[in-house]
Amino acid sequence: MSTVLVIGAGGVSSVCVHKMAQLQNQIFSDIHLASRTKSKCDAIAASVKARTGVDVATYEIDAEEVPAMVNLIRKVQPSLVVNLALPYQDLPIMDACLVAGVNYLDTANYEPKDQAKFEYSWQWAYHDRFKDAGIMALLGSGFDPGVTSIFTMWLKKHKLKTIRQLDILDCNGGDHGQHFATNFNPEINIREVTAPARHWENGEWVETPAMSNRVEFDFEAVGPKNMYLMYHEELESLAKFVPELERARFWMTFGDQYITHLTVLQNVGMTSIEPVKYQGRDIIPLQFLAAVLPKPETLGETTKGNTNIGCIATGESLDGSGEKTFYIRNICSHEAAYEETGNQAVSYTTGVPAMIGAAMVVTGKWSGPNGGGGVFNVEQMDPDPFMDMLNAHGLPWTVEELGGPVEF
Ligand code: NDP
Repeated sequence: MSTVLVIGAGGVSSVCVHKMAQLQNQIFSDIHLASRTKSKCDAIAASVKARTGVDVATYEIDAEEVPAMVNLIRKVQPSLVVNLALPYQDLPIMDACLVAGVNYLDTANYEPKDQAKFEYSWQWAYHDRFKDAGIMALLGSGFDPGVTSIFTMWLKKHKLKTIRQLDILDCNGGDHGQHFATNFNPEINIREVTAPARHWENGEWVETPAMSNRVEFDFEAVGPKNMYLMYHEELESLAKFVPELERARFWMTFGDQYITHLTVLQNVGMTSIEPVKYQGRDIIPLQFLAAVLPKPETLGETTKGNTNIGCIATGESLDGSGEKTFYIRNICSHEAAYEETGNQAVSYTTGVPAMIGAAMVVTGKWSGPNGGGGVFNVEQMDPDPFMDMLNAHGLPWTVEELGGPVEF
């Protein structure tokens, strides 16, 4: 039985804490929740109490204040800190975990506030310090990164000896009824989708302009949708941990209305992260835009439809019968996610894997070699117990063999 401290009180955190509470008797005996705005923690705690009867203790914290984080960790004495705040807080929270000697988990890699750039190098650089301290940092335990990485490693363990080609297909077929909204933190989401596309091919990164490569794909439980080539952080870890990959790409669907709004916002400079002077003070246009857009955690009630996220992998089959292609995916209903936790499916598909990753760490099913510490991506762990928990806790998956490699 374990004590956990969750940081951040947005949609992803809300789902994760609800799911932890459902396992209070088996795994997460004491759940603590801290964020910048305590009232948001209290609202999640009230919902958890009403739905599950479990008490969640709440605190106010600025996770970028390392000494304050260390004090909170020492007070709560968790076996794991689950970082579901923003990527900007990854390094200060890792620093606090090192001082306090406690394990760490997140769902998104570090991103500096002043550069629209994300990569694992900053967090991988903590490996030796975590190893020496005998504690573990588990990186990227959301859906993508997270489940998509684990799907790939499951195919590599059970179906394919080597993976030559990998396509990750992320479709949100949900309709929230708003003109323009993002389904997770607007600032992070818009930084991600306006960045140049990048994919891995023959040992190097190939860069193309954002949203310039479009393919129509017929998604089960959603229907035909346009998907766009994008850069996504699991491509970096997959290229490292599946070194034989000749090509790895990430695709995400966007509706025409989303693209039109985004294009206008970009053209008028509203997505910029360069400060501009407004009434005598510096403001960042993208942060101002994020403040006026609908909050992702308010979209749950109106969002209808399904998400369908998965991986298509081609490679040499394990049974020696030549090259094969498999498609492994999860379909998640926005309405069912809302019914269960009060949050839409994008928060649900991220919060459930965060809870499962936390379960893997606190039960010791996942650890470094010989139970040791260090900084690890989910690709480095055994996919099987995680895949079992996906089936049991709301994100069931299917795998099918396709006739051949993708034709796009
Ligand atoms: P939200 O913006 O809804 O929530 C973020 C929370 O972090 C807010 O409660 C915010 O506080 C809090 N926060 C921000 N800064 C601080 C700080 N300095 N100290 C303490 N708390 C802080 O985001 P989401 O729930 O949508 O996303 C959470 C994380 O999940 C993000 O890192 C996102 O990138 C990641 N994600 C990962 C996905 C995956 O599949 N791997 C998919 C979707 C999201 P306040 O309420 O005061 O603003």
